[in-house]
Amino acid sequence: MTGGTVTLKDTSAARLLCVETQLGICLRSWFAATSSEKQYHARNDPCASSQTLIRAHSWRVTLRGVIEISRQDRVFILTGAGISAESGIPTFRGAGGLWRNYRFEEVASPRAWQRDPRLVWEFYSIRRRVAAAAKPNPGHFTLAQLERTLQDRLFLCTQNVDSLHEQAGSRRAVHMHGELFKSRCDRCDRNPFDDTETYDPPADIPRCACGGQIRPHICWFGEVPYHLDRIFQALSEATVFIAVGTSGVVEPAASFVAHVRDRAQSFYVGPEEPANACAFTKCFLGKSGELLPSLFGPQ
Ligand SMILES: [Zn+2]
Repeated sequence: MTGGTVTLKDTSAARLLCVETQLGICLRSWFAATSSEKQYHARNDPCASSQTLIRAHSWRVTLRGVIEISRQDRVFILTGAGISAESGIPTFRGAGGLWRNYRFEEVASPRAWQRDPRLVWEFYSIRRRVAAAAKPNPGHFTLAQLERTLQDRLFLCTQNVDSLHEQAGSRRAVHMHGELFKSRCDRCDRNPFDDTETYDPPADIPRCACGGQIRPHICWFGEVPYHLDRIFQALSEATVFIAVGTSGVVEPAASFVAHVRDRAQSFYVGPEEPANACAFTKCFLGKSGELLPSLFGPQ
């Protein structure tokens, strides 16, 4: 790690790493690699660089206000399952848990809907009940406050289908994977509508006036995410990009940071290093509900 500076210090509240990768290197792969692999990375990894800084801080002191937003900045925020998990909504990717009895392809795809819509509604009825019991955390409230301050200079894009951003006060969250508390017709072009009902078997599948079946307003596997035109327009204008609690493996969201890389500062906030960590200017590792309230300086 030629030219690098490494200073590590564990805090009692949370082992927090502020990983500065502005000159770029995938830290996880670096530490895991053998020396020959490191030489390979140094030659071939587009993220590789001659300098890497790693620092650990007591975030309560040193991370306060480290993300500075000027009056000219346009901020794009991408949230993922991690921020909802901190409010008690289990992630699909977590081991075991609530969803272990369901296979994605049996409950979250157009084919699944055609094969067994009752099973699909059983799954989404459980998800509606879980989400209805969840409350937003300080991370959600911080982003809602940021929206009130920045107004149309903030674009909040979420991969989450729950309504925790709205409950916290966000008014313009864009749900690229749909919304759990909305449904739509699987046949006609009627707009998605609010729907908090649960449809557990053996209940009949609800029907539209056109005769079509009412389905969850969710972007299933094999379907195109929603609002992509608006999202990429906002990405093209962003000067600050912040990803919160997203694994960095689900496309197209995982590539958003690459779209802004040349002209925007990019930050990651979440408990685990994302798969695309090397694409960010800085990664703040810790619970977003603990970190976000202190990260932003005065706007
Ligand atoms: Zn219809």
